[in-house]
Amino acid sequence: MTSIYLDHAASTPVHPEVAQEMLNVMTGTYGNASSVHGFGRAAKRIVSGARDLMAAKLGCHPNELVFTAGGTESDNMALFGVAEAMKEKGRHIITSSIEHHAVLHACEALEKRGYEVTYLPVDPQGRVGLDELRAAIRPDTILISIMFGNNEVGTLQPIREIGELAQEQGILFHTDAVQALGGVAINCHELPVDLMSFSAHKINGPQGIGALYVRQGTRLEPLLHGGLQERKRRAGTENLAGIAGFGKAVELATDKLEERTTSLHQLRAAFIAELTEQAGRDAFVINTPLEQSLPHILNMSFPGITSETMLMNLDMQQIAAASGSACTSGSLELSHVLQAMNLPENVQQSAIRFSFGLGNTTEEIEQTAQKIATILKRLRK
Ligand SMILES: *Cc1c(COP(=O)(O)O)cnc(C)c1O
Repeated sequence: MTSIYLDHAASTPVHPEVAQEMLNVMTGTYGNASSVHGFGRAAKRIVSGARDLMAAKLGCHPNELVFTAGGTESDNMALFGVAEAMKEKGRHIITSSIEHHAVLHACEALEKRGYEVTYLPVDPQGRVGLDELRAAIRPDTILISIMFGNNEVGTLQPIREIGELAQEQGILFHTDAVQALGGVAINCHELPVDLMSFSAHKINGPQGIGALYVRQGTRLEPLLHGGLQERKRRAGTENLAGIAGFGKAVELATDKLEERTTSLHQLRAAFIAELTEQAGRDAFVINTPLEQSLPHILNMSFPGITSETMLMNLDMQQIAAASGSACTSGSLELSHVLQAMNLPENVQQSAIRFSFGLGNTTEEIEQTAQKIATILKRLRK
């Protein structure tokens, strides 16, 4: 029995071409990109090559990309960086109640420092309302941070409309696009967005490397102080291999976007169809809005069977999925996303997130649906 990986929203396998690129860099180049000698220049060329490639694929200027240690740092850099730079204008931030913890916990830390944060509610699809957003804007609002696509349920937000509203009001707009990259087309300059977070390991790149897009002219205080790297926006010797791998991963994810999303849509639809056939349509509830969502995410519930029980049973069958809720010390903590969507309690308690990606096959999907049907039959007896 081979294992089946359906947790790509948590992390993805490194693409062989990315691994090769990184190996080439790690074995062929060393030195510090800030050094003035030939070794340093070679390292610098790797960094600027990857930056140019990413900028071309993401529709921005290379100077507008800051390399970070991942999505979490990018989110923190956007929030703390803008909060500090704009504090004379105001100390009010608007975000949503379904953000990744990298945004939510950063906002909570800012509240402790005297900032005020409005957490917008979402509808049962997990979408922020523009009327609620408009009503939350104040004269002292300095930043709106609303994610592009949600990591638990896949819901896409009306990014263009939110950005236009922010622009109209002269408020900076940050979006966490960590899950959206590779799932939808992203062109930084074509979107009314000032700051956008990315992470490599969600798109078949390495862990521990990310980037923040910072639109030209956006005021941002650095999080880290030290050397003059990244145009003084992020001190620290560059993660050479990580940056090279990230560039390759972005190239692969964006060049084959159509192909990739079509196949993900097909896998998701095939999974629902097979599960319906094997277990019956009333055996599960779908929490992901199938329209306007990231194609690789499917959140569903099996009412009556806790997420924990289902995950354990899946794990025994060597199927890796995730729960919409995190278990802490035996007590079941419900997902803040499903809670904000106001789903019935039994739906929240039994939610499972399946997330698809590179290498998943129709056979794996069918096998998983069959295994779930068997598990359901046994547990519901
Ligand atoms: C994974 C993820 C992050 C965190 O990125 P890391 O690179 O793991 O730090 C932030 N936001 C979203 C939406 C994510 O899915």
